[in-house]
Amino acid sequence: MADNIFAPGFKTDPYWWDAAPRPKLELAPLPAESDVVIVGSGYTGTSSALTLARAGRKALILEAEDPGYGASSRNAGYVGRMLWHKFGPLERKLGPAAAAKLADDAVESHRYLTTLIEQEQIACGYVNCSRFIGARTQGHFDHFAEDLAMFARVGLNIQADMIPRSAQGKEIGSEKFYGGMLLHGTGSLHPGLYHLGLLDRARRSGAGIAAHARVTGIERGKDGKFTVHTERGNVRANDVIVATNAYSDKGVGWYRRRLVPVKLFQVATEPLSPQLLNRLMPGGRTLIDSLMNITWIRLSPDNTRLIIGGRTGVEEGGAKGKALKLHADASEIFPELADVKLTHSWEGQCAFSFDKLPHIGVHDGVNYAMGYCGVGLPMATWMGHRLGLKLLGKVEGATPFDGRRFPTRPFYNGEPWFLPAMMAYYDFKDRIELWRG
Ligand SMILES: Cc1cc2nc3c(=O)[nH]c(=O)nc-3n(C[C@H](O)[C@H](O)[C@H](O)COP(=O)(O)OP(=O)(O)OC[C@H]3O[C@@H](n4cnc5c(N)ncnc54)[C@H](O)[C@@H]3O)c2cc1C
Repeated sequence: MADNIFAPGFKTDPYWWDAAPRPKLELAPLPAESDVVIVGSGYTGTSSALTLARAGRKALILEAEDPGYGASSRNAGYVGRMLWHKFGPLERKLGPAAAAKLADDAVESHRYLTTLIEQEQIACGYVNCSRFIGARTQGHFDHFAEDLAMFARVGLNIQADMIPRSAQGKEIGSEKFYGGMLLHGTGSLHPGLYHLGLLDRARRSGAGIAAHARVTGIERGKDGKFTVHTERGNVRANDVIVATNAYSDKGVGWYRRRLVPVKLFQVATEPLSPQLLNRLMPGGRTLIDSLMNITWIRLSPDNTRLIIGGRTGVEEGGAKGKALKLHADASEIFPELADVKLTHSWEGQCAFSFDKLPHIGVHDGVNYAMGYCGVGLPMATWMGHRLGLKLLGKVEGATPFDGRRFPTRPFYNGEPWFLPAMMAYYDFKDRIELWRG
């Protein structure tokens, strides 16, 4: 495919940073101490800072880069109500009652996020648009129908409809699907603006933030207080929260060894005509397909272009190489995109835990929450809030994820060397299933 898919001024920063540039903070000296130190300035860290600051505790966020540099300003902005772990296997592993509690908590995270956006008046383009999960094979469609029957049997608070192939034209302008599931109550937003709004509310409530203050170690003294070492000096704290998720580095090595950082890739198209957008996405839904290595496509929050993502986990010729591949994938779904140009191509990292579940807990006296497995926009906000409540000693900070072991694997050091092989296997399985139809 030709290089002429790149629009003039093509960028390799996230599209979201055009409207929500990362704040450039003055590098003032770090304070010698703070009541609470929070490591990481994404949704988890910022949400916990907001809750703590509103309750009068002095919270300082330490961020290795610019504020919100990680996944929280790079993601796709899909606001879901489900865990990444499929409910059937989770039920078999934990039993129906425990599995339902975890699944219900994901619904709760959605409720918390949408209420917060409304109460705080965060202008981030949230829309309750529903998600169309397009079945790429008849077998996938049948599985979705079984899942839906199971949700009803268990009584999960998930509302969805099966859309047969004959009726999918009102949801999606593509012949590539065998129908799909329409998940109601799910939405989308501008992730960068949402992050800036959250950060603004935390700072206005009294939370501090220091950028370019990478944490290199956390030490607990005999008096129970912590010394947080950074590249710009040390800060003493009564409590520490680690909220570094997929960007966890050696300075927070215990967490890094428990997470598999996976790269996700996205591109933005040039502005498209309203007529074309209406033909491709007539229902205005967010779209994901049913393959193991999924492709996702959504409208930008201002409804002027498409954001396309997929080809997870492996590098393919840098930002431009990946853009070419994503362009080809999207053109297979929507042939009318073949001549459309791309303005942005960027990557971000999300963190998978070894048991495919989010984790919240305490290690060596340090509180943490992470491991959202690619669906952390509502869950990171919700977990961050509850980390704050826990430090405030509030019973509302309890979660059904409390007390779960945070597993790692022997000899795993946080380098996911096995990922290319794993993704190749998923791609192979996807190709076989597509071939079978
Ligand atoms: C491309 C992409 C698409 C996604 N799409 C969606 C979606 O549509 N819907 C959804 O629900 N979820 C999505 N996710 C997942 C979601 O974005 C994340 O789960 C969520 O943003 C995690 O927030 P966080 O605050 O825990 O971590 P992050 O936002 O990643 O923040 C962690 C921060 O910690 C900092 N840090 C790391 N180490 C240190 C250190 N030693 N010292 C100081 N700071 C440190 C990093 O610089 C980083 O800024 C997506 C993720 C990616 C990457």
